[in-house]
Amino acid sequence: MGKRMTELELLNGFDEAIENDHIFVCYQPKMNHATGRMIGAEALMRWNNPEYGMQYPSDFIPVLEQNDLIYKADLYVFERVCMFQREMLDKDLTSVPISFNMSRHDIIHSDYIDELERIRTKYNVPVKLLHAEITESSALGGMELITETLNRLHALGYFVEMDDFGSGYSSLNVLKDLNVDMIKLDMRFLSGNVGGRGGTIISSIVQMSKWLNTPVVAEGVETVAQADYMRSIGCIYIQGYVYSKPVTEGEFEKMLTEISSESGLKSMQLISTMDAERFWDPNSLETLIFNNYVGGAALFRYHDGKCDILRINQKYMKEIGMNMSEKEILCSDPMDGFDDENRKIFEDTLKLAAETGEEQSCETWRNVCSKICGSYRICVRSDIRMIGKADDQYIFYAMVRNITAEKRRFAEISDSERKFRMASEQINVYAWEYIFSTKEMHPCYRCMRDLGLPLVVENYPDPVFANGLFPQDYKEMYYDMLHRLEQGEEQLDAIIPLTVGRVPFHIRYTTEFDENGKPLKAYGSAALVQKDND
Ligand code: C2E
Ligand code: CA
Ligand code: CA
Repeated sequence: MGKRMTELELLNGFDEAIENDHIFVCYQPKMNHATGRMIGAEALMRWNNPEYGMQYPSDFIPVLEQNDLIYKADLYVFERVCMFQREMLDKDLTSVPISFNMSRHDIIHSDYIDELERIRTKYNVPVKLLHAEITESSALGGMELITETLNRLHALGYFVEMDDFGSGYSSLNVLKDLNVDMIKLDMRFLSGNVGGRGGTIISSIVQMSKWLNTPVVAEGVETVAQADYMRSIGCIYIQGYVYSKPVTEGEFEKMLTEISSESGLKSMQLISTMDAERFWDPNSLETLIFNNYVGGAALFRYHDGKCDILRINQKYMKEIGMNMSEKEILCSDPMDGFDDENRKIFEDTLKLAAETGEEQSCETWRNVCSKICGSYRICVRSDIRMIGKADDQYIFYAMVRNITAEKRRFAEISDSERKFRMASEQINVYAWEYIFSTKEMHPCYRCMRDLGLPLVVENYPDPVFANGLFPQDYKEMYYDMLHRLEQGEEQLDAIIPLTVGRVPFHIRYTTEFDENGKPLKAYGSAALVQKDND
């Protein structure tokens, strides 16, 4: 261990350190604790200054991040990893996938992934030999950037690991939204006696990850007892001092030839690995998570066209229970409430979820019947995942949301629009909106049908004078009218002869203002002037 360099020394020395290989890469193996074989490794940055000695990432990475140098440093590490993998391929040595760390500051550079690809293709390294590690803290600035990064990496074929899970930013919802391929659970963040509270949290996370069908690697594992404990709860992948500290490239190459490796992760066993006992125990942490970390959720068994609900959480009762008792819900088959059409939608979704192993969603209407509320018709959105299968029985995990109110509101809006349309047919009214700021006119359905107007008339009213709908001799008066509305008049009306037939119409305008009293748009209507009414 050397003397710590100051921030200024780090910044001034950075370029030279890259040039002279003072910044280099160490490798730490990831092991399968059930077989003792290597499944991969992580590349970790090191900086050995000739004068001050070894510097550690916890000291220099924040400095590089704050000064926008991490991008260059990370691409450098990535290039060294690609060179190493190329060398292994050329020597015909079986290598393992090596993961590289991505900083939140890397993905802000829009060409970061292009650069990765440029380097990877330069050394012609298969994408499966490179894994990306992203940290959850990248989601801090919002999900968009990290989601986009993840999607782009996936589209290119990269395996993506969620680093530092359990560090505090973690929430299972982030996991649900980010479709990562592996979770790295850092034991150091969840320290404590493995048999105690830390242990139960760890085992619950492992359990949840199984429902999501995402493998877990435990990192920072220092003792055999910890590694054995992880294996006992179904997490067999281990990275930590118990197997090896990060080693230099040369030492790592030696390890590759000495320890046998295995490629590819076995896909998770489904229901057989689920610790049923804990799951049904009302005092277990699994129950706590099921009840608190997710929205409305249910576990149910599907067999031969029938569903049994195995378990629901409180939020499920709230979403679709309609005051039913838990017992009422558990005893009823939710499929009984479907008509044929909705039953088909639901069953097709279950089939797809079973075939693909991925989450599938549907929206279905169903009748629910409760002693207190009587019969109700509700619309439910379900996100469904198969978590187990035995013979011809399937176990599904469903997250549900009651969307009846949204659906009704939507129906009401289209209903009121329909009423308006009918009414305007009867009283011969044409209606439109005119938006001051954009000079756009949005005609009603009748205007479009009878007058051949498009959905949006740009630069209004020029086109309606050009096409003869409005007569030229009224041009000045009509422009003046719109101008006065824009200046803040609340209402104006006039009689204007329209179309080639010069049929007199009563044109009315009402202005709508924003909260500061600035005119936003004007609602216009045109009604035939009725002779007998005059
Ligand atoms: P990380 O990504 O969580 O990396 C794992 C860290 O845990 C490494 O520290 C590793 O040496 C350490 N470690 C592994 N096993 C054990 C163990 O059993 N016990 C203990 N106490 N520690 C263990 P390191 O190399 O000091 O790196 C620290 C952090 O610096 C990394 O945490 C990562 O966030 C960052 N980092 C390292 N290299 C890079 C890089 O190339 N690029 C970027 N952006 N960040 C890097
Ligand atoms: Ca990492
Ligand atoms: Ca980590």
